[in-house]
Amino acid sequence: MGKGTLAQRLVELDDRLWLSRSWTTRQQRASERGDEYNFVDRDTFERAIESGAFLEWAEFHGHLYGTPLPEKAKDADVILEIEVQGAEQVLDQNPDAVVFLILPPSLGRLEERLRARGDDEDHVADRLESAPLELEKGRQLASYVVVNDDVERASREILSILEELRRHRRDPSSKD
Ligand code: 5GP
Repeated sequence: MGKGTLAQRLVELDDRLWLSRSWTTRQQRASERGDEYNFVDRDTFERAIESGAFLEWAEFHGHLYGTPLPEKAKDADVILEIEVQGAEQVLDQNPDAVVFLILPPSLGRLEERLRARGDDEDHVADRLESAPLELEKGRQLASYVVVNDDVERASREILSILEELRRHRRDPSSKD
């Protein structure tokens, strides 16, 4: 399962987390319910960029993706499930943001997952070609690296790191 599934699972397990809903110009996949993104056309997206509606946005394999400025729930920690160019922008504006790099268990498993969700062969080839560079950039930005081998295991790992970070936020003198 991909990063999106993991992010959904995290908000199910922890009600102090709030998952941001991104905008994208890509088409909705047949396998999607339709609430994963706000699906818009390029004109609408570009007008939103001009009006300063995004915290960050990036072009990824020919489509635009962006995080609308969060109207975040009070006291919640916000999850952005985004790619590396966006993470870089968020960190520039918010040095306290915590970046988790979510790794596929292997490039072979990534390939299987992209095919299984119906991506066409050209897109699968492009994603596999750019993956090593994205992972390298991600490693530079990330404070934590989590292998998405199993959604339950990976979410437990992330939640235990978050608990530790919250403890430290409440009591900055506590040990790391
Ligand atoms: P997909 O098309 O597979 O849903 O997403 C492609 C990539 O775009 C994934 O790596 C996903 O994390 C990333 N992505 C989704 N939403 C956003 C966003 O709002 N901003 C950025 N920068 N990347 C996003």
